[in-house]
Amino acid sequence: MTSHDPEILGLPFYDDAHRALAAEAGAWCDAHLVLWEETREADPDAAGRRLVRTLGEAGWLAGLNPAEPGDHPGDLRAVCLRREALAYAEDLADFAYSIQALSATPIIRFGSERQRADWLPGLAAGTLIGAFAVSEKEAGSDLAAVALSATKDADGSYVLDGRKAWIANATIADVFVVIARTGEGPGALGLSALLVPADTPGLRVEPVDATAPRSFGQLSFEDCRLPAEALLGRPGRGFVVAVDLLERFRTTVGAAALGFARRAHDTALAHTRAREAYGATLFDLQLVKGRLADMEITLNASALMVARAAWETDRGSRSFARHSNMAKVYATEAAQRTVDDAVQLLGAAGIVRDGVTERLYRQIRSLRIYEGSTDVLRMAIAGSLDMRRAARVAAA
Ligand SMILES: Cc1cc2nc3c(=O)[nH]c(=O)nc-3n(C[C@H](O)[C@H](O)[C@H](O)COP(=O)(O)OP(=O)(O)OC[C@H]3O[C@@H](n4cnc5c(N)ncnc54)[C@H](O)[C@@H]3O)c2cc1C
Repeated sequence: MTSHDPEILGLPFYDDAHRALAAEAGAWCDAHLVLWEETREADPDAAGRRLVRTLGEAGWLAGLNPAEPGDHPGDLRAVCLRREALAYAEDLADFAYSIQALSATPIIRFGSERQRADWLPGLAAGTLIGAFAVSEKEAGSDLAAVALSATKDADGSYVLDGRKAWIANATIADVFVVIARTGEGPGALGLSALLVPADTPGLRVEPVDATAPRSFGQLSFEDCRLPAEALLGRPGRGFVVAVDLLERFRTTVGAAALGFARRAHDTALAHTRAREAYGATLFDLQLVKGRLADMEITLNASALMVARAAWETDRGSRSFARHSNMAKVYATEAAQRTVDDAVQLLGAAGIVRDGVTERLYRQIRSLRIYEGSTDVLRMAIAGSLDMRRAARVAAA
């Protein structure tokens, strides 16, 4: 049972290669039910390592090394279709895939030839694990407030002092893409991106337990010394590296939310069809049908918004970030409601620990927070309203 909707895939947003990829991804997920079971029973760090390796061996990550044949994060529709399939099958598999892509993308887009050669083959093979670290306790939504300092020494090396918070893959990563303050200018203009191997002396990781267990933690840097070649992209361009990445990946968060929501909907539909009540089934009750219909409507709307945003990104549209923001807000908020409705329709069975809907209930929540929380993105969307109106008036 796969996530993708063939009617949506048939739209001109996708081409035949995407349709083939969706079919393959869905079939692969269906063939790995034992892996998903074992993932849920394993320690999250061990599960994360195994999933990255397995995805690498199966070719899911091949696009992270564009020197090799295969799609790459430039094809955002492919990334979205993969996230949707994996999220439908198993949250940690989507997590493993997405954080690997999130950390490889700045290296692909801004890395030197040497940096790409050093890291991308391992990230694409799943033999190395990546992480992306921008957030701090006092700099979450406000990226320009990043305080972790990277001071340049006389020999050109950088010395990192400070902390990062809420970092996915923190406890299992081999390399971190870190945004730090190098001071070329004030606020956002004084940040740079650096590549930090996890075994660099002075870097310590503290695990954090999250509602849905996964590799997650804080990083602390104390007199952590990096060579000048650790700089990723140009000095003072770290904010651009971070925003470029997040604007692209927000659409993929919407795609993952779609996978979660479709799983919740399928589970609720199967349950209400089977559950006998009042001499018929739950599905025969009008209010139950109403909830299931609302789920179907929002699934359809989310899938269209994700497809449109990914298509706008792939064709290089100047307004892709606005579409990405709208797709993330809509799909994640709708998925939260759909998962909640699924729990409601299952009744007590919906909250049994480690049942499908109970897991989804814990897993969906953070998607409305990371990579731009709903409120922050709504502010950004509101910021573009006057420009949109002016464009409509000019076109009239
Ligand atoms: C599961 C998970 C994984 C994560 N992984 C990573 C990772 O790999 N790397 C990384 O760097 N970070 C990661 N993060 C951190 C994430 O990016 C931040 O949590 C997010 O940016 C919000 O920052 P904050 O938590 O500090 O919340 P705050 O910035 O304190 O915001 C809290 C709330 O205040 C409101 N708010 C804040 N600013 C505004 C505004 N301008 N307008 C309107 N309302 C506003 C919103 O309601 C917002 O949700 C992860 C977080 C989670 C939950």
